[in-house]
Amino acid sequence: MTSQPFDLRGKVAIVTGGNGGIGLGMARGLADAGAAIAVVGRNQAKSVAAVADLAGRGVSAIAVAADVTDKAAVDAMVARVERELGRIDILVNNAGINIRKPPHTLELNEWNEVMATNLTSAFLCSQAAHRAMKTTGAGKIINIGSMMSIFGAGFAPAYAASKGGIVQFTRACACAWAADNIQVNAVLPGWIDTDLTRRAREEIGGLNERVLARTPAARWGTAGEFAGIAVFLASSASDFVTGAAIPVDGGYSIMG
Ligand code: NDP
Repeated sequence: MTSQPFDLRGKVAIVTGGNGGIGLGMARGLADAGAAIAVVGRNQAKSVAAVADLAGRGVSAIAVAADVTDKAAVDAMVARVERELGRIDILVNNAGINIRKPPHTLELNEWNEVMATNLTSAFLCSQAAHRAMKTTGAGKIINIGSMMSIFGAGFAPAYAASKGGIVQFTRACACAWAADNIQVNAVLPGWIDTDLTRRAREEIGGLNERVLARTPAARWGTAGEFAGIAVFLASSASDFVTGAAIPVDGGYSIMG
């Protein structure tokens, strides 16, 4: 560990889904610690706006339009980041969606879409980034799970399966890549106020009240509250932390 364990100057981070919500909250934290950022998403207008915000923090930032479920697009995205920003030190696998239906009505294509976006994307991006990180001799991968990595919910069968899978995938990569000096960890957000959960609140009656009642902090989290964990897991401060799944949830997961 260096004398400034949270310093990310000279580092380059890819944040999938970095154009809004939790991803942008993490990207802002990484930028404030000095990292250059590649924002990856499908909505290029949103990504360009996020890049303007990040560049305003004094770092290099680029918007890369890519669907993270598409291997060719992911490989091209990683190659472009290496070409334009010079290296890859940090990967945040944050892109995610949910389709809220019980298992008996979920269509196969809906199952596949959620699994591809939330889980297969992490495999594709991590595999591509691993090649670059191995060359550099170090790397940090942060995967975004969920409370549904731990708990079940009748309205989220594919989402829960994908987020449970993310934790196990994190552990597998942590074991496989420790020898390459790459640390791989997961963050498990509680209920955070973003576009994703605004839709959930509209679709699921009583959700707001249940979240407030069960969360010891008695409130929804904010995207900005993911800056600290992102910097910790991206920096030398966490060099002996790997394969962990860390809740950032206002205590939701320890509430009896
Ligand atoms: P948002 O809907 O605000 O953000 C989702 C992001 O994913 C968007 O930036 C979107 O960008 C990107 N994305 C979705 N599909 C793709 C794709 N195929 N290719 C590239 N990018 C894609 O949601 P949140 O910020 O709430 O969620 C971020 C992560 O946190 C997700 O993994 C989610 O499951 C997880 N999470 C969120 C919780 C919450 O309470 N909000 C709780 C637990 C976990 P674009 O549309 O431009 O492609």
